[in-house]
Amino acid sequence: MVLGVFQKGGAQDAQAALAAARAAFPAWSHTPWQQRAALLRKAAEIMDRRIYEISAVVAMEVGKNRTEALGDVAETADLIRYACQSLEANDGFIKEMGHDPLSGYQATNVSVLRPYGVWLVISPFNFPSALTGGPAGAALAAGNTIVMKPASDTPWTTRLIAECFQEAGLPDGSFNYVTGPGSSLGQALIDSPEVDGITFTGSYDVGMKIYRDFGRGRWVRPAILELGGKNPAIVSRHADLEEAATGLIRSAFGLQGQKCSACSRIYIEAPVYDQLVAILVDRASKLAIGEPTARASWLGPVVNQKSYNDYKAFAEELSQAGSILTGGKVLVDGDLGHGYYCAPTLVADLPVDHRLWKHEMFLPISTLAKVGSLEEAMGYANDVAYGLTAGFYGSQEEAEWFFDKIEAGVSYANRPQGATTGAWPGYQPFGGWKGSGSSGKNAGGLYYLPLYMHEQIHTLIKRA
Ligand code: NDP
Repeated sequence: MVLGVFQKGGAQDAQAALAAARAAFPAWSHTPWQQRAALLRKAAEIMDRRIYEISAVVAMEVGKNRTEALGDVAETADLIRYACQSLEANDGFIKEMGHDPLSGYQATNVSVLRPYGVWLVISPFNFPSALTGGPAGAALAAGNTIVMKPASDTPWTTRLIAECFQEAGLPDGSFNYVTGPGSSLGQALIDSPEVDGITFTGSYDVGMKIYRDFGRGRWVRPAILELGGKNPAIVSRHADLEEAATGLIRSAFGLQGQKCSACSRIYIEAPVYDQLVAILVDRASKLAIGEPTARASWLGPVVNQKSYNDYKAFAEELSQAGSILTGGKVLVDGDLGHGYYCAPTLVADLPVDHRLWKHEMFLPISTLAKVGSLEEAMGYANDVAYGLTAGFYGSQEEAEWFFDKIEAGVSYANRPQGATTGAWPGYQPFGGWKGSGSSGKNAGGLYYLPLYMHEQIHTLIKRA
């Protein structure tokens, strides 16, 4: 079904958007930070007011169920508010430093964080609202002007987010929305010397290419890269298995496994393996699949035909190498209407050296392994190029051990709300280690907003 027709922008549109952002930068960066925050708070309020309309679009465009779609938009508004709060809590990041002792002179030293200039935001399909509006809000709060390019699968949602900024009264040119293929429009933006900094959220492969290409500029420019995940959960023999199963199912299959934080690997201690696997298989096979805007549906279709075909290929490969306990099939029943529906899939007996233990499939597929000890599980958990989220179920003491050992930017213990998923600005700031992220500081957290600014020291000397 055609949902909309959007411009297939190219290199010229990239140049036009960057030029508009450059022209608007002097005025926006000199707008007092309190005023910038007020305008952005207004944009967040407009998102709150339009939440049902925008989330309906998210549901149709991405295939999110109602709750997930509402969450995407609500989080966008909260990310923007968090950036404003961060500005306020730090008095606009203007801080007086020490007075150096100079005889006959008086010194004033002030540290000021100032915006870089034109900031590029490139977002993925799976959180089209939060991962466009969130970084855009932070870049704008810091005083940068922006160009935002959404994924080709999700231009409609981001257009509505752009409208909210516009309706709030942000000046012309402060944010610029362009649509078009990553390989042409996106690449032209990345290759332009007019970009002073970027926030890219997407896959590891595209992110690493962008990192290298962006590094060819005349000097080092900031690149906030939020990349993929291969998120593990470890279940100890001391875990509450019902709670663990609830969290694992939510994180393995929420949004059809297409979250960067999806739980795609589950390591279970041998004494509780059979019991937990039986609960997981039972729950996975009962998930309500269907048209995502319907109230009863928990699982919608995957995003596009490529993902659907990938699912079929992975299911075939996994059925040869391991045992599919449930799922492994696409669902083509007339009842489900149109869409690329894939059954939630749990796989056991996959050899530990199989490539799919390390490859982000980004589909409703999770692999299970029986382990002899928690140390063994931790060894596997950390043995990937990613380090985004991780989950644990076990005793309090074991949870402390898990937090200490796990290599991940967001880690959860004993959480039925989601083993590895579910983060909120101000509560669980979100970001990754290793191949999952570049900045080491999580979005929606204490140290995020300064990433969008560079420091300038103002030293002023007066005769005493
Ligand atoms: P992709 O990497 O395929 O695409 C992300 C964005 O990059 C899209 O807008 C895409 O445009 C654009 N793009 C592609 N090629 C280029 C290029 N050469 N130059 C500039 N831009 C380009 O990711 P998906 O959209 O498939 O999203 C899923 C991925 O995102 C997963 O790996 C997931 O883990 C990750 N992700 C990470 C998050 C995190 O916070 N760490 C959060 C959410 C997702 P186009 O669509 O036109 O190709």
